[in-house]
Amino acid sequence: MDNQGCFNEIQLFLIKIWSTRKALIKFQPLLSRLLNIKEDFHVHTSYNDHSALDLNVASAVNYAEAIGLKTLAFTEHVRRESNWIDSYVNEIEKINTNSNLKLITGFEAKILKDGSIDCLPKYSDNYFVIASFHTIYGNKEIWMNAIKNVIQNPDVNVIGHLAPEQSFSLDNEELIEICELLREHGKIIELNAKYNRPPLDWVLEFKEHNVEFHLGSDAHSLNEIGEFSRIRKLVQVVNSYT
Ligand SMILES: [Zn+2]
Ligand SMILES: [Zn+2]
Repeated sequence: MDNQGCFNEIQLFLIKIWSTRKALIKFQPLLSRLLNIKEDFHVHTSYNDHSALDLNVASAVNYAEAIGLKTLAFTEHVRRESNWIDSYVNEIEKINTNSNLKLITGFEAKILKDGSIDCLPKYSDNYFVIASFHTIYGNKEIWMNAIKNVIQNPDVNVIGHLAPEQSFSLDNEELIEICELLREHGKIIELNAKYNRPPLDWVLEFKEHNVEFHLGSDAHSLNEIGEFSRIRKLVQVVNSYT
């Protein structure tokens, strides 16, 4: 091989390494964003007044271990005036788990009309927070203002079961505005198995904008923990590379 031929060979080799490296760099964040059906980031307990009575911290942990979950986030409905929070937090923090199950202490907080959350800052500052709409405001302007404000709240980690109200839909520009805010503020979008939300077209748009997702069963009874069959389609869409 003459000098020129050798040079070309080396050049080709370097290009090959570079493109492999680029492919890996591109692939890496995608891999880390894959949804894991062994992680449930939205589980209630009987600290609220409407879950099954046998759903408590200990029984939920036992059940999660039995079905092989890797992550379980307790996210009880909170209000600013809730008076059970300290015993709830203590109970979770004292429980013994096997080393394979990671427990997260958190709350699901209602998004209020002005986009603030119904949770005292001393709790939202220190624990995992899902912010969800639980009131129908019946007005797109109020809803848009609330969602934009809550996404910018540094105490909020996740937006739960997000969907438009029945009386309105968002146009593409409005949806993209939300996508960009979610991305900018690092908020996670929950794929919620209880309500089968967000709508598929929203999930596709969030994915297009590299918004992060995770899974929440929104379990109010033991056998709903880690149960995601209702949102199989959404999980497939998020975990596919197209
Ligand atoms: Zn909810
Ligand atoms: Zn919930």
